Amino acid sequence: MRVFACPKCGAWVEFEDRMCLACSTSLAYSPDRDDIVLADAEVLCGFREQIGCNWVADPEGDGECASDRLTVERPGEGDPVAIVQLAVAEQAKRRLVRQLRHLGLPIEVRAGDHGLGFALKSPADGEQVLTGHADGLITINLTEASDPHREEVRIQLGEPYRTMLGHLRHEIGHYYWLVLVDEQPEVEPFRQLFGDERQDYGDALTAHYGNGDAGDWATDHISQYATMHPWEDFAETFAHYLHIADVLETTASVGVTVDGPTGVPAPLAGSISSRGAADISGLTMPEVLTRWHGFSLAVNAINRSMGEPDLYPFVLTPAIGEKLAQVHDLVRGV
Ligand SMILES: [Zn+2]
Ligand SMILES: [Zn+2]
Repeated sequence: MRVFACPKCGAWVEFEDRMCLACSTSLAYSPDRDDIVLADAEVLCGFREQIGCNWVADPEGDGECASDRLTVERPGEGDPVAIVQLAVAEQAKRRLVRQLRHLGLPIEVRAGDHGLGFALKSPADGEQVLTGHADGLITINLTEASDPHREEVRIQLGEPYRTMLGHLRHEIGHYYWLVLVDEQPEVEPFRQLFGDERQDYGDALTAHYGNGDAGDWATDHISQYATMHPWEDFAETFAHYLHIADVLETTASVGVTVDGPTGVPAPLAGSISSRGAADISGLTMPEVLTRWHGFSLAVNAINRSMGEPDLYPFVLTPAIGEKLAQVHDLVRGV
């Protein structure tokens, strides 16, 4: 994400801000201009008051913004707890949608059974809502917007990282597999790297949760979950591609560079020089990963200084780099 400035006073404002903290001007985000604009001059999204959406209304969105109009199912107003969870999920989704637009990825609004849609569901008593993707429809269990619940599940499953934005980036990976790989020439190179997706998904699911510990998965998978099925491997890899692209855009925008380490004897620690990239489309994946490597080391060290766990608790191996390169080529090819 890039950094924004208040159009009135020039103060630093965040992507989510509805008001400038420096001059109290009412603000909105325009996806078409990819910029923060004066709210008074715009038609605003109809979800501004209910869930804090700060986007301007989409010209074709019937009063909804380009992100909210992708939501095909949401909890009713009579459920205040679910509305709070919806606000958390939609905030993460606006970051997702903005990044997809920034990368130039196609977003076809769901009409009937085709295109992209989000069902953001809060489970009623006894009902089970499974987060997942099916034919362009992404379902999110809104309970995942609750910090204590999500943290409990994260610990239960032994995952190092679990966020709402991470869920969305994973599920959108399934969507783009369908759009960019399935039934296209790209499926062959995909199968060579990720495996044959025609193996039975149900069996794979049972095997994954039955075996738990799959041994040395980390040499060629970004997460243990990715070992379950080639689709999951692709979705996990796609999510990491979005993580990396977003952080590099942020570091370019805020002007953070890494140039170190200092105070360490040269043969022991190779010097690292990393700068961000507002747009990674002109870089090769090895170039992207060279930049990323410095930042992942630096931000993890910074987090540890604050007593926090690593910001990026993953290890990228050459095999994972090849998978990321394939995703990079798919995105650049659009
Ligand atoms: Zn201002
Ligand atoms: Zn909105």
